[in-house]
Amino acid sequence: MTKLKDVLIIGGGPIGIACALECKKKNLDYVVLEKGALTNSLFNYPLNMTFFSTSEKLEIDDIPFISNHPKPNRDEALEYYRRVATSNNLDINLYEKVLGIEKVNDLFVVTSEKRQYNAKNIIIASGFYDIPKLLDIPGENLSKVNHYYKEAHPYSMQNVAIVGASNSAVDAALEIWRKGGHVTMIVRGSSIGDRVKYWVRPDIQNRIKEGSIKAYFNSEVQNIKPDKITVKTPEGMTEIDNDYVVALTGYRPNFEFLKQAGIALSEDNLIPTYNENTMESNVKGLYLAGVICGGMETHKWFIENSRIHAKVIVDHINSK
Ligand code: FAD
Repeated sequence: MTKLKDVLIIGGGPIGIACALECKKKNLDYVVLEKGALTNSLFNYPLNMTFFSTSEKLEIDDIPFISNHPKPNRDEALEYYRRVATSNNLDINLYEKVLGIEKVNDLFVVTSEKRQYNAKNIIIASGFYDIPKLLDIPGENLSKVNHYYKEAHPYSMQNVAIVGASNSAVDAALEIWRKGGHVTMIVRGSSIGDRVKYWVRPDIQNRIKEGSIKAYFNSEVQNIKPDKITVKTPEGMTEIDNDYVVALTGYRPNFEFLKQAGIALSEDNLIPTYNENTMESNVKGLYLAGVICGGMETHKWFIENSRIHAKVIVDHINSK
């Protein structure tokens, strides 16, 4: 059993790091537990991704984020958050997954893979990038189906179906096509997603129009076989040759973890209960920070608009 912490932060993403910085400034005894590498979600983003935000919008605690590009890329973001954590000597335990939180009287007992902690306050900043929203169709468990996209090279000269029409799906479709893959997009809606980066939208629309990338709209994959997929289209069922499926249909928070901690979730979009002025959940002393706050509305929060959670929470803890 380690000594009593003022604050235990779950998740070493950008927002967990922002919370740690605030705790340090206020002389609170804190620790961050991160189940993977530092900023593990960003580490797992596509190698060539570019943020839609400009670098100053990704800054935490006004520490300058200098990028060589109008919008920073993954490597620059990793460098930035790494430097923020190391140069401030933040207390972050990596590769230590939190398994559960229990409230005993007024204190929290947090069990990780390695040990137990006691804490007066908890901040859950565990994001949503670990659990893909599944298609839930036969064949989804085949090894040719991926719910994350890293880089295009393995898909060169292959028949690749991209499921989805969000930023991630569009970026992957364009990159794979440019590296010699034969790309078909399967899109549930009637068009490319509304939130696709404005400078990428014409590119994908023109590639679809000229037929370089094939797209089925108002369509869904029904079945995945080793060499084919079956797609339900407005014109009926069609079978297409397929080597790989890259299903980029989004991710979701770990709701079971939140429920186990006693956090009430809304019925419609499983939005966790919290006070917007303090970010404290329905469990006293247990706070929510970052993108986890959106429940299934995963587009609602991002780094730009959730980095302020750190100050709001730590000010509230400090005022108690
Ligand atoms: P995360 O970064 O997901 O951090 C959560 C951390 O918690 C992870 O490191 C995870 O490993 C850890 N964790 C989870 N469970 C446990 C556990 N049980 N125990 C210990 N640790 C745990 N946002 C912007 O503002 N601008 C952009 O331009 C932008 N571009 C994006 C591009 C892509 C491709 C994607 C996918 C997202 C983008 N976002 C952008 C969103 C942004 O990256 C995320 O919102 C950001 O990562 C959220 O930060 P977070 O700290 O809340 O969560």
